[in-house]
Amino acid sequence: MGPASGSALQEPTLVLNKSWVPINTTTVRHALLLVIKGAARFIQPETFEIHDFDSWSALNQDQGAGLRGVRLSLRIPEVIVLTQYNRVPEKSVPFSRRNLCRRDGNRCQYCGAQVNARDMTVDHVVPRSRGGNNSWENCVVACRRCNTRKGNTPLEVTGMSLLRAPRRPEWSPCLSIKRGQRKSSWKRFVAERHWRGGL
Ligand SMILES: [Zn+2]
Repeated sequence: MGPASGSALQEPTLVLNKSWVPINTTTVRHALLLVIKGAARFIQPETFEIHDFDSWSALNQDQGAGLRGVRLSLRIPEVIVLTQYNRVPEKSVPFSRRNLCRRDGNRCQYCGAQVNARDMTVDHVVPRSRGGNNSWENCVVACRRCNTRKGNTPLEVTGMSLLRAPRRPEWSPCLSIKRGQRKSSWKRFVAERHWRGGL
């Protein structure tokens, strides 16, 4: 195989469990091995058809980028489904300022204004001085103005309200793949916001 095929083998493939829940990403190379071993099947994203190695090999090359070797010409698999494994791993999105911005879409959760990095603050809904903790459920993005206005006053007293209740974001395997490397076909298998890199 030439260098082009070699790098194609390192491309990411989305892994679904037996119930079609996205649980992981792997390399094309590993996806091929899983299918050859019978532990997984290829999914044709446009039709949701399931293929084993032989029926996948028979697919028309024009339907996707090819992996070309001396004796092998194969469409690159972007999604596979496991044949036995049906669990969902317990993974969570790390609690950080950056991820808080992703969850809240860089938007002040009080006035709705788009906040740039310089003016962005993290507001504790229940102020820390009143026992509020550092958590997904108690922290939101706020603009400086709203944060100052709210201060250490309990929310009910300020008359301010949240755009939406802050929650812990759901983890998705495609979050571990850089935005430009996510396959557009994954959109059909993961939440749209996850495919776009939001939380
Ligand atoms: Zn604001």
